[in-house]
Order: sequence, then structure tokens, then C-alpha cells
Amino acid sequence: MSGPKGVQCKHIAEEPILRLLRSFDGKWATWRDTDLMPTVVPAFPAGTPAKVVMAKMASLIRRGLVDGCTCGCRGDYVLTDRGAEWPRRRYGA
Ligand SMILES: [Zn+2]
Repeated sequence: MSGPKGVQCKHIAEEPILRLLRSFDGKWATWRDTDLMPTVVPAFPAGTPAKVVMAKMASLIRRGLVDGCTCGCRGDYVLTDRGAEWPRRRYGA
């Protein structure tokens, strides 16, 4: 899937997304650009279309790194245990 600027899911780094979710400490995050609840938007390149954000999150959910909903509602993304371990193991953070 690609957006108007050619941003594609597979080109988006997942490490910043997983780190950001970890910083929310179990609070649910959304794909929307909002101040009302935690959001994953700051972990994406500026201007990433919402549908690409949602598709990227869906791929992380499929891989078991993130829990949440892919139906187009607010998402309610949280890290799974596996997602919490993944960047630490891979990057030593
Ligand atoms: Zn939903």
C-alpha cells in the first residue's frame, strides 16, 4: 500500500513505533493525530497517510508485536510481551 508521497509500509521503521508504544507504559494508543490519547503518529515520517499508519500497525499486530484492532476504529494499540522484548533484544536498548 502506498500513499500520495509514496510512503509504503515496508519502508517505515518499526523500532520507533515499538519504542513509542513502550513509552506509553500500557496505555492504549491510536492511529489518529490527536492530543486526546496516546498516538503512534509521531513515530511515523511526517505526512504519512492514516491508511498507511493503520496498515503498518496491522502488520505489527499480525506479527504478534502489537495488540489492537485493525477494523478502522481508534486502534487501541499496546505492545505485546513479544513487542516489548523485540527492540531491546535487537538493538540492546
Ligand atoms: Zn476496531
